[in-house]
Formats: sequence, structure tokens, C-alpha cells
Amino acid sequence: MITRSPNLLQRTDTTEPIALSRGWQAQLRQAIRDPRELLARVGLDASWLPGAEAGHALFEVRVPEAYLTRIRPGDPKDPLLRQVLPLDAEARAVPGFVDDPLAEAEHTPRRGLIHKYPGRVLLITSPACAINCRYCFRRHFPYAENSPSREQWQASLDYLRDDPSIQEAILSGGDPLASSDKRLAWLVERLGDIGHLKRLRIHTRLPVVIPDRVDDALLAWLTTTRLQTVMVLHINHPREIDAAVIEACARLKTAGVTLLNQSVLLRGVNDDVETLAELSEALFDAGMLPYYLHVLDPVSGAAHFDVPDADAVALHRQLRDRVAGFLLPRLVREVPGERSKTPL
Ligand code: SF4
Repeated sequence: MITRSPNLLQRTDTTEPIALSRGWQAQLRQAIRDPRELLARVGLDASWLPGAEAGHALFEVRVPEAYLTRIRPGDPKDPLLRQVLPLDAEARAVPGFVDDPLAEAEHTPRRGLIHKYPGRVLLITSPACAINCRYCFRRHFPYAENSPSREQWQASLDYLRDDPSIQEAILSGGDPLASSDKRLAWLVERLGDIGHLKRLRIHTRLPVVIPDRVDDALLAWLTTTRLQTVMVLHINHPREIDAAVIEACARLKTAGVTLLNQSVLLRGVNDDVETLAELSEALFDAGMLPYYLHVLDPVSGAAHFDVPDADAVALHRQLRDRVAGFLLPRLVREVPGERSKTPL
């Protein structure tokens, strides 16, 4: 549990205050990137270190302070910790789990631009994330080759301008909101100049893991674009939604942004009906509609999170019996080559 005061977060389960800089960029810079430090902060002993270092060598650890404060200390099964703690299981090769599970390399007509589905195009807007989720399907994505420069964005804008069938630009990453507001405002202004574009969609986890990201500078460009704005957040467990996330969502709603959420079904995190029902309720309370519940993309290093399809379908059925229809996310899989997500 945390309470907020102007310049620091105070854990209510310890007497020790944790200083938290208010600026999101400083929080991003200060995120934990050392497995030893992560273990110390979450109260796990040295027996976890070899595994954590093995996983970290494959995909570096990254956890911002604002997320860390929501993790229950001393509990290796904490569902929030499980999402960020590197394990030696990540080094195990499992048949069917590959580096590019969605074959995105085949749908990249320009560097940093993915055109898989009709009518919408995805721009890799930032190579960085504020948090490194161990199950991420882009954990092996060649960001160095797709890291966007101003020239590259210009080429992407030309691509969008030349195809009148494209109605929606999706900013993705990494996390697009890891880019500066100056760069994002530049890009969004030019997207708004493309007459056939109707919508701007932003896929981000930043308002969840560093809620201070939703500041005045962000709201300034979000509210001045003529495009309809949709933000798809990424929350997997109800405990990720604390008072600061609720406040960030309220600011986005007030700015006229449509808020949706997508979750990934993850073993040991949210693979029970109680948690999923609580998540749907908590999302709606905070102003988000549960949009998708994805089964895990088979990316190498994440097989220990996999929930078999039969279990996923059974869980979804139980959830349907528990929550109102509009709180039921669609259970989907992304299949390479398909023109839309595939319902299970
Ligand atoms: S925030 Fe999203 S893109 Fe970044 S590591 Fe997590 S799941 Fe992957």
C-alpha cells in the first residue's frame, strides 16, 4: 500500500519513506537495472541471484520505483514481481517458442513501420520501455535497426500519406511515451496533417508504471490534435492499479482520450477467475474498458508464463459468467499472417 504526498511516496507497510522524484524522465533514468539491487529491494535472498543474472543477460532488468512500491516484499510469487523478475527459466529453449513469434520482420515495409492489418499502421516510436516485462513478445526485437530518427519518421509519414486506405496510426514501441513530448508533438502534428487519418492510437504501459508520465506537457499535444485519440494501456493484475494510476487515467479521460486495456494471460500472475474478475472491475472503476485478453505469444524466454489454450478458454467462460458483458475482454491470439486477431 502506498499513499502519495507531493514529493515522495510513503509505503504504509514500512516506516521508511521512498523518495520519488516527480519528473517522469528522472524516474525513468533511476529505474532499477541491476538484478542484485532488485532482489535486495524486494526482500529476496541471494539464492535467487544466479537465475536473475541469467535472465538479465538475455533481456535486461528494468523496474521503475513507482512500480516497485506496489510489489509485496519477501514474496517471490507476488504477481507484480513475477512480471519483472528475471529467472533462469528464460534461458531454456522450448520447442515452438521463437525470437520473432509474430513474424513482424515480414511486415516492415519501412524501418520502424509495421503494416500488418488493413487500415492501420504501427509506428515503432521509441525503442525503450520504462519497464521490461519478462513475457514481452518484442524482447528480441531488433530495436537498434528500427530505432526511429527524424528522417525515418519522415519516411513513415510519406508512407501513410501515400496510402489513403490507412485511417489509423498506432504508436507503439518499446513504449511510445518513453519519447520526449517535443518529439511526440512534432510527430502527432504531422500525422494530423494527413487528411485521411482519423485516429491516433497509443499503446503504452507508461501511465501504469510511472503515472507521473501523464503530465501537462503530454496532455498539451494530446488535446490539440484533431485526431480522435485512443490509449490502450497494458495492465495484467488489479494490484497494478493504485491511486496514482487512477489519477493519471482521470486526467486522460478529462482530456477526451478513450481508454482501453489489454492484458496478457500469464501463468502465476492472473490465471484465475477471481483475479481476472477483479481486474475487469478495477479497470472500469479507473475509466478503462477491458479490451483484449491475449494468450501469450510464443516468444523464446517466456514459456514458463504459458497457459494452455484449453485452460484459457475455460477461464474465459468462467469470467463471462462473473462479469457484465462490457467488462469481458476478448480472448485472442495473434497469428502471423492473419488479417486481424484470432478469437479463441
Ligand atoms: S512495456 Fe510493453 S513493449 Fe515494453 S517490455 Fe513491457 S510488454 Fe514489452
